Amino acid sequence: MSRISCAAVCAAPTLGYVSDYDYDLVVIGSGPGGQKAAIAAAKLGKRVAIVDRLEMVGGSCLHTGTIPSKTLREAVLYLTGMSQRELYGASYRVKQEITVADLLSRTRHVIDREVQVVRAQLQRNHVTLIAGTARFVEPHVIAVKGSGQSEQARVSAGAVVVATGSRPARPAQVDFDEARVLDSDEILQLEEIPSSLVVVGAGVIGIEYASVFAALGTRVTVVEQRDRMLEFCDPEIVESLKFHLRDLAVTFRFGEKVVDVVVSDRATVTTLVSGKRILADAVMYSAGRQGLTDDLGLENAGLAADERGRLQVDEHYRTDVDHIYAVGDVIGFPALAATSMDQGRLAAYHAFGEPVRELAELRPIGIYTIPEISYCGATEAELTSAAVPYEVGTARYRELARGQIAGDSHGMLKLLVSTVDRRLLGVHLFGTGATDLVHIGQAVMGCGGSVDYLVDAVFNHPTLSEVYKIAALDATNKIRALERFGD
Ligand SMILES: Cc1cc2nc3c(=O)[nH]c(=O)nc-3n(C[C@H](O)[C@H](O)[C@H](O)COP(=O)(O)OP(=O)(O)OC[C@H]3O[C@@H](n4cnc5c(N)ncnc54)[C@H](O)[C@@H]3O)c2cc1C
Repeated sequence: MSRISCAAVCAAPTLGYVSDYDYDLVVIGSGPGGQKAAIAAAKLGKRVAIVDRLEMVGGSCLHTGTIPSKTLREAVLYLTGMSQRELYGASYRVKQEITVADLLSRTRHVIDREVQVVRAQLQRNHVTLIAGTARFVEPHVIAVKGSGQSEQARVSAGAVVVATGSRPARPAQVDFDEARVLDSDEILQLEEIPSSLVVVGAGVIGIEYASVFAALGTRVTVVEQRDRMLEFCDPEIVESLKFHLRDLAVTFRFGEKVVDVVVSDRATVTTLVSGKRILADAVMYSAGRQGLTDDLGLENAGLAADERGRLQVDEHYRTDVDHIYAVGDVIGFPALAATSMDQGRLAAYHAFGEPVRELAELRPIGIYTIPEISYCGATEAELTSAAVPYEVGTARYRELARGQIAGDSHGMLKLLVSTVDRRLLGVHLFGTGATDLVHIGQAVMGCGGSVDYLVDAVFNHPTLSEVYKIAALDATNKIRALERFGD
């Protein structure tokens, strides 16, 4: 890593003379946003470095977020035998006593492999990986402090992408002890599977973990201050999820706030504003996330974060400082790995003036609860409030041969179809493979396709994808009946 003096930095020109800097682009943070920014710039022939702590290569996505949580879910589904119980009976299990070690061995395996993939991609594209924590000392100069090093190395950059991600927000009045009172990043450090757990916050992360622990046999209580959960999803599908979770002994406490959590060496007691007290082995807080900008030295770059640590960007992911871009969780909504990757790629292209198309407006939402939820396009509530006439086509997995083979009788698809021009307006899925299947609907909608495409297309048999055909036939039959009545 090279050092440059302040004089050189102060005299350094801006983007037009990028070759005077150590790198054309320095990316801070190696999560999905940072990786894709670095690789996109490298593909443009730029000199690129990416800074992160060595043990965090791949980002929190890989170490505490998306990947471990999804791997844990997969391990739980397999070991509990849950997805096979419709076929082999309620007592079916692959392993009787599931331990944290059983779950973590799979998680560790996937993380290790994925870290290798990320490192190899960076190497292949000649992106320099600088190990340490970055901090702006000047708008174009970044100091990097490696672990255990007092000395800070400095690098200069023509452009910078900030992709530092987020951390769980922690209410000030709660004493997190890393053992019984944990945030969602720490939950993977539990030493044993709790027999009871309070989950505070029924957002996506909270409810995903609630369903995973419930599947493991933990008695879960979800406390949520709002009156409902996942209010952006189809209410019928959220009802189905709640039914399933209640069946797994999950208790919901909606419209309730936590006032206090008391911890002993054996258990916790969570007290709610209503006076209810909940005894549980552990408490997991999932109360939103905070942009990771505290230690970035933003003031040295001429930047400031908002009260939730987030950076503001324009439609090109450019901050208020021309050569500094920000992507991923650090810019807030939607704070998904899925979107962070594309934001990173686009930010790099914009930084180097590369012509680029913006992201499609139509984006899927995936919620990896057990069972999973996914949707794309409009909800019934949105269409109703916009006075858009539509018909609903519904199909259930139990009508499909593949649904029977897979032992999933509860899965379903709802298609929302315009009764004016038969275009597909929304797809809402619940059950096995929902987060994959949603892309069929997304592709049809993205290409402006109508429900007739799904009626006329031949689907492989037996597949879960056939759920589209059945729902499309349901919708078109209803539309036809109405049209006949009109005649
Ligand atoms: C439990 C959980 C489940 C999730 N599930 C999904 C899902 O199913 N699908 C989905 O799309 N998204 C999911 N997400 C969200 C997803 O993980 C994030 O949106 C994504 O990781 C954000 O990527 P990012 O590029 O902003 O950076 P991150 O992945 O947050 O990584 C940021 C990196 O920046 C580094 N960094 C921070 N500060 C500095 C510094 N000063 N110097 C150097 N490096 C620094 C950090 O060490 C970290 O490695 C989930 C999140 C959580 C917590």
